[in-house]
Amino acid sequence: MDEQIKTDLQEALRKKKEELEKQLSSFASKDLKTKGDWDTRYPRTPEGNEEEAADEVEEYSTRLPVEQSLEKTLQDVQNALEKFPAGTYGICEKCSQEIQKERLFALPEARTCVNCAKIS
Ligand SMILES: [Zn+2]
Repeated sequence: MDEQIKTDLQEALRKKKEELEKQLSSFASKDLKTKGDWDTRYPRTPEGNEEEAADEVEEYSTRLPVEQSLEKTLQDVQNALEKFPAGTYGICEKCSQEIQKERLFALPEARTCVNCAKIS
């Protein structure tokens, strides 16, 4: 793969990582024990206001899937960034072929090529 393209994609991944971490930290706390794991902050215990409590619990349950999806993307982004020093960026994790450029531009953290993504 072209070095310039690689540099651009690495830059895109760094930005994406920052963006994801910013989004996550707005409602979740980084789990310091598990690398790359985030926990949605459970609502504080409101004092004597049941309606407010119900609202917060509802908010928590809507945030949880969002957190999980952001966390998964962040892990993929992190995983992709770690491949640069190893020189394995852009290589499909399943078939070891180069991942199509177009796919990487659309999804720089892609772990697999289009063909393998179809199968899984
Ligand atoms: Zn593949």
